[in-house]
Amino acid sequence: MNELIRTLTQTWGPTSYEEGIRGVITRELDSLHVDCRVDALGNLIYCIRAPGKPKLLLSAHMDQIGIIVTHVDKDGFLRFGAVGGLDPYKVLGHRFVFANSTVGVAAVESKEHKTLEHLTLDKLFLDIGAASKDDALLHVAVGDFAVYAGDCVQVGNRVTSAALDDRIGCYVLMEALRAVVGKDLNYETYAMFSVQEEIGIRGAKVGAWGVQPDLAIALDVTAWGDTPESYVLDIALGKGPAIKVKDAGMVATPVVRDLLIEAAKTHGIPFQLEVLQGGTTDAAAIQTIANGVPTGVISIPDRYVHSASEMVDLGDVEGCIKLLVAVLLK
Ligand SMILES: [Zn+2]
Repeated sequence: MNELIRTLTQTWGPTSYEEGIRGVITRELDSLHVDCRVDALGNLIYCIRAPGKPKLLLSAHMDQIGIIVTHVDKDGFLRFGAVGGLDPYKVLGHRFVFANSTVGVAAVESKEHKTLEHLTLDKLFLDIGAASKDDALLHVAVGDFAVYAGDCVQVGNRVTSAALDDRIGCYVLMEALRAVVGKDLNYETYAMFSVQEEIGIRGAKVGAWGVQPDLAIALDVTAWGDTPESYVLDIALGKGPAIKVKDAGMVATPVVRDLLIEAAKTHGIPFQLEVLQGGTTDAAAIQTIANGVPTGVISIPDRYVHSASEMVDLGDVEGCIKLLVAVLLK
């Protein structure tokens, strides 16, 4: 098991509470002695200076999806809302953990069992085992955040865990940085670990304004089309990094897309082209700041995105690191 991937995925960090994961990343990268700063929103931005060269911004988001307590009823059961895009079918039956380690299970109103095709989040509640409202309030309060409790396990080349979106992108960015520090780079390179992606790509926008790059590449997960009766999507685990053409929020700037394709071909890295009908990434925000930024995305295929058990292929992850390093190095 890759211990860094385990630590990254198991660190608690819903949107706006990224300090834990930021701490993991800064401790890991400390020995590189690369300049870094944290902006007022919490984006962690490393910079490898190369005066006179174009500025390249790389971005991977630190936050993970979660839930927020909206109400505690008289019997101690919690109602909750989504922090990020949550499918009630992926929530039902799973455990959620709060910052203070309190754990609850997401259950459904019994009378809803027969009509699961219409399941909505407001039919679910969180049971932390409290005996009453007063008992529950000893552990949680309205406004508290929780995230999926989902162990990190490895079978063969596949890793399953909560929060691979986008801690696996953070991992790719960290490993690429380690590989290129001290070498001759094509760009003045800014590596941003962004906040607040899951509630509307809010952190990356601020971080990108702070850098005002000449071009940008986001690193995030994408969906899959290789499981039984899946929707049609030409993305499979194990077939390499996905180079984004389009998602619901942007068209990748063709010149950056082609730069990634060329780098993959030159270095013999297998890749897939991604046309995603739903969802978007930090790239959509970065592309439209200031005078506009040519922006592309390297995507990591990730089954069951936004569930307690997402799944990636380590070969794809290695391919993403190689591809990014190929772009950065002269
Ligand atoms: Zn993501």
